[in-house]
Amino acid sequence: VAPAASVVHAFRAAVVAVPERTALAYFDGRLSYREVDALTDSVAGHLAARGLVRGDRVAIVLQNTPHFVIALLAAWKAGATVVPVNPMYKSAETRHILTDADVTALVCADQAWEGHLRETAAGTGVRVVLTACQLDLQTRNDPRVLGFERLPRAADADDLLTVARLGLPAPGGRAAGPSDTALISYTSGTSGTPKGAMNTHGNITYNAERQRAGSGIPEGACYFALAPLFHITGMVAQLAACLTNAGTLALAYRFEAGVVLDAFAEHRPAYTVGPSTAFMALAAHPAATRAHFDSFVLISSGGAPLPPALVEKFREGFGPYLHNGYGLTECTAPCASVPPGRRAPVDPDSGTLAVGVPGPDTVVRVLDELGEEVPFGTPGEIVVRGPQVVPGYWKRPEATAETFPGGELRTGDIGFMDTDGWLYVVDRKKDMINASGFKVWPREVEDVLYTHPAVREAAVVGVPDAYRGESVKAYVSLRTGADGAAGADAYATELIAYCKERLAAYKYPRAVEVLAELPKTASGKILRRELRSRS
Ligand code: ATP
Repeated sequence: VAPAASVVHAFRAAVVAVPERTALAYFDGRLSYREVDALTDSVAGHLAARGLVRGDRVAIVLQNTPHFVIALLAAWKAGATVVPVNPMYKSAETRHILTDADVTALVCADQAWEGHLRETAAGTGVRVVLTACQLDLQTRNDPRVLGFERLPRAADADDLLTVARLGLPAPGGRAAGPSDTALISYTSGTSGTPKGAMNTHGNITYNAERQRAGSGIPEGACYFALAPLFHITGMVAQLAACLTNAGTLALAYRFEAGVVLDAFAEHRPAYTVGPSTAFMALAAHPAATRAHFDSFVLISSGGAPLPPALVEKFREGFGPYLHNGYGLTECTAPCASVPPGRRAPVDPDSGTLAVGVPGPDTVVRVLDELGEEVPFGTPGEIVVRGPQVVPGYWKRPEATAETFPGGELRTGDIGFMDTDGWLYVVDRKKDMINASGFKVWPREVEDVLYTHPAVREAAVVGVPDAYRGESVKAYVSLRTGADGAAGADAYATELIAYCKERLAAYKYPRAVEVLAELPKTASGKILRRELRSRS
């Protein structure tokens, strides 16, 4: 099946085919395809009436709520480019994005507008503001997640749902096509200043269709939005894939393990995707049972390293096999994944779990420092060419030329390919630890730590060492109940000994520090950078 020209095209096809099917489910709130179509037409009409023209940028600063999806589809119907912004960003981070992307319209929660966004947006190009109250589409007012009060309407902003219910017609004009820019996605900056990757409509629908094809997920199935929609994985593998499959997207504001488990029981989703840390948290939650997971046809873990020990623990404890998937913002989420029904092999030498196989139109090559392809099994930089690779960074010709020479994406990840075509990610190039001249890849050490029953999360970094240059240090958080009698110090000593038994002498951590929780990005990735700067 050829992908739709855009998610809006796929959405409209679903509106015609199944108008009464639930498109969005949020706690007790439900909106059908027909309702979402009417609401988004009206918001699109409003944006056009406020002078927004094709290609203008609309920032969406929201958690996983129906308002996010309404704002997104409306902006796309108006021909705009959407700039998703993490609502947890501090003022300076948001301001950088609003200014860099020349944003003219902003959609956010009214609490955030009153909180800091009004000041943040002042002096930028933002001139149209739509605010959303989280309570409006949700009848149960679940205090565990929301706890919002209804604020008086801001005089300098329009209320999103009021606008949505005006019944305005969507603007006419040419529909966005595959080569138009759908999103400017700012990388979360785990490696430097955030840059805006320009994901086209064609990039998105290609990956959404790839996710659906052969997955066994029935048409109309429920997709659970575990990953944040403002991150490319959530946007593409959940939202776009769901609408492309005329499915129901179940949303639960943001990741909170107990709330997510309740939502699984209520919505009985067939599919979800999230970072491995979300599955660690779900597996560690005392309320989690096999029954919570028995509706799933497929579960994917993507966007962050997946320790083989977690795959085992999850399968034994809860049933589903976690399908690994590898991608970057710059390739619109996945560019290699484990095909449904297949099991990713583990490399016998390094213990690395394969991330998957590239799709049929995707060419993955592994290059050495000189840009020459290396033989199978030899690590080098992963480069990707395919229909999901973005044309470049917004307003950054130099960074574009550097990262996308000849249209091929240089990922900055070190990996290797086996003779069967499985791709393995060793680690990020810049996270390599140089201990006395030996290369240590943090992920390999983390994989070993994850096999220890007491370890919940692990991150390994290089710390300055007068003698070795750098030495290996591990940060861990422990599973509930594991930190009791023995105490953190005893665990640190035990974990060093545990790794020493299982790793070469230059690789095992010389220090282990136990933290209550490891720092993570909003998309759930453990922030090694932050741990490095603690050391
Ligand atoms: P920045 O690019 O600014 O550092 P980021 O890490 O949030 O921010 P993303 O595009 O979200 O950027 O992440 C892509 C990176 O995540 C990849 O380059 C790779 O290092 C890592 N990654 C993604 N999927 C996997 C996987 N399955 N296994 C191992 N690593 C993965």
